[in-house]
Amino acid sequence: MPDTTLMPIPGHIDPMPVPRANLVEGVTPREDGRVDLIGLPKKRIAELFEAAGLDAKAAKLRAKQVFHWLYHRGVTDFADMTDIAKAMRPWLAERFVIGRPEIVEAQHSSDGTRKWLLRTADGHDFEMVFIPDADRGTLCVSSQVGCTLNCRFCHTGTMRLVRNLTVGEIVGQVMLARDALGEWPNANVSSRQTPGPAEVLANALSTNPAEGSPAVPGQARDDDWDEDGGSYSADGRLLTNIVMMGMGEPLYNFDNVRDALKLVMDGDGLALSKRRITLSTSGVVPKMAQCGEEIGVNLAVSLHAVTKDVRDEIVPINRKYGIEELLQACADYPGASNARRITFEYVMLKDKNDSDDDARELVRLLKHYRLPAKVNLIPFNPWPGAPYECSTPERIRAFSDIVFEAGISAPVRTPRGRDIDAACGQLKTAAERKSRAELERLYAEKEAALG
Ligand code: SF4
Repeated sequence: MPDTTLMPIPGHIDPMPVPRANLVEGVTPREDGRVDLIGLPKKRIAELFEAAGLDAKAAKLRAKQVFHWLYHRGVTDFADMTDIAKAMRPWLAERFVIGRPEIVEAQHSSDGTRKWLLRTADGHDFEMVFIPDADRGTLCVSSQVGCTLNCRFCHTGTMRLVRNLTVGEIVGQVMLARDALGEWPNANVSSRQTPGPAEVLANALSTNPAEGSPAVPGQARDDDWDEDGGSYSADGRLLTNIVMMGMGEPLYNFDNVRDALKLVMDGDGLALSKRRITLSTSGVVPKMAQCGEEIGVNLAVSLHAVTKDVRDEIVPINRKYGIEELLQACADYPGASNARRITFEYVMLKDKNDSDDDARELVRLLKHYRLPAKVNLIPFNPWPGAPYECSTPERIRAFSDIVFEAGISAPVRTPRGRDIDAACGQLKTAAERKSRAELERLYAEKEAALG
């Protein structure tokens, strides 16, 4: 079997071999030189298989099979890919891995909400949250470790940005959630006859998969599972919706978020409809049209205030892209219609943004820009050192009534997962919790950077 783990550097000078992974564009290098396939589209997987020695036809075929196993079946071990030749499976495992973010901690709220503290391969922590409802289950996915913005009501905003999450780390959250909820099709892998090491070696020696395999697309040679025997039902899933609303500003990590959501929407893989995916932005205006065109998911906007002064304070990106500019970008958002309304998130802060005048101004703005809109009123979720208090229930109700009476839906969201700090604006890894003085210093730094 050819050793493709190490490759010479092309050109006249070849000072030392480097791991193949370092030469693979778009792939995070691993110390062992293997390539993590999670986060890669089918075409890229085929290119990697070809680079590892398969001929073009076999590479395409294997990529199609492997993609299906990764994203539709959720397997985490090449040995479970039962329609791939037995000899091929160790060959794959030698060169590739099927990654998942590491779970550091899993918490359950008394209301059923679940929060996971996750860790990247290079040791950075981030969080994801699952919120079950009567008719849906929503996974709140993170796009960055930390955040560059410092929305004043948001605990994540008090973290520095550590780095963008990769495509694999974003789509890996959805895969982890399906693992945890037991929502992969019920492949009968337990009945698979697991070969012993001697059998694996004999199989590996009997064929050289790198020289191509006689397998035919869709034809299962070693297949011993019953496709119809599984209990999987698309309609019975717990995880039905995704919101890009966890840690980070998704439009500041646009390419990775786009590529991850394309994998989530791929009909051969996770196959979640774009109508069930919502991307929430604090208002990165220059990226909004691109988001509609290239991703096409539902849009949510963290509005939170209707006057320049207050929004400048609560959502400081407003100093760069003001309310008018933001609402015009919403009016221009590709695909927005009465059937696909834009959601405006509005956190209710006592004596800050919750007056009757604020509610009336909100209605005026939404009507002025003719926005197909719904408004989510979010009672503020306090966190240690937070500079605001939540509006009273009566105030929230009065605000909601004004908006409703103008013909715009404005439900009050029930806070979820407060007891495990999983509610909106509360995500913050424990290692990053800071004193009030540190927070003030960080706010000042970030505000100076915003200008
Ligand atoms: S609300 Fe979103 S964009 Fe604003 S600081 Fe929090 S994580 Fe960042």
